[in-house]
Amino acid sequence: MEERHERPDGPNPPEIDVATCIDGLRSAGTLACATRSPDGAPRVRFLSGLHFEQDAVYILASNGMPFARQLLADKRIQLLGEIRRGVSVRLTGEAELLPEEERMRWRLVIFRERPDYRELYPPLKYDDSLVFALRTGYFEYLDLVSSPIRRVYVPFGGGQVRPSGFEITSACARCGSCQVACPQGCIRTGEPFRIVQENCLQCGACVQACPRGAIRPVV
Ligand code: SF4
Ligand code: SF4
Repeated sequence: MEERHERPDGPNPPEIDVATCIDGLRSAGTLACATRSPDGAPRVRFLSGLHFEQDAVYILASNGMPFARQLLADKRIQLLGEIRRGVSVRLTGEAELLPEEERMRWRLVIFRERPDYRELYPPLKYDDSLVFALRTGYFEYLDLVSSPIRRVYVPFGGGQVRPSGFEITSACARCGSCQVACPQGCIRTGEPFRIVQENCLQCGACVQACPRGAIRPVV
């Protein structure tokens, strides 16, 4: 779904890769983190007990806390950070509990980077805390400041990208109504018309404008 888009008024925008996304999350510091509870309900909290490598994100969790229990029951996780106003990185993937022999190394690293952590969470016993590794999934880099906006998906650790948005089907009658409605100017003529996904805001204006019902959501 990822697609390059050359802007009419300048060169191609900078490449967005794994390093860009990892560095972005690191710079954000505190990240929103979503998991699912055993009853399927969403759970989100801020996380800062993290360490970033180019091939993994290491996540500290106090043994027994709801967050750790949720991850043990369901590996699926999302991390979301704002790099700067209007620019964010989301990492969707699965987090694996590290075996005990690997935890000590990353506990040391995380506690060194976050010396305030033990005081903040007194029950977080150093030798008992868990460490999860997020090594596979995909990034979504979203820049709402640039014009047009940019939304770039980047695979991580062999993970499969699962993009969202809209696509134009063969029911398109090439009337052009969606192009008129699109605030990002990211619909191209063709048979059928085509959405430049990298520049799509996912606002749905084109869906409402289409007289043929030819634009469908991609989940
Ligand atoms: S969802 Fe919005 S931004 Fe994307 S193609 Fe449709 S109108 Fe344009
Ligand atoms: S509005 Fe619908 S039918 Fe018309 S060009 Fe767009 S997708 Fe095709």
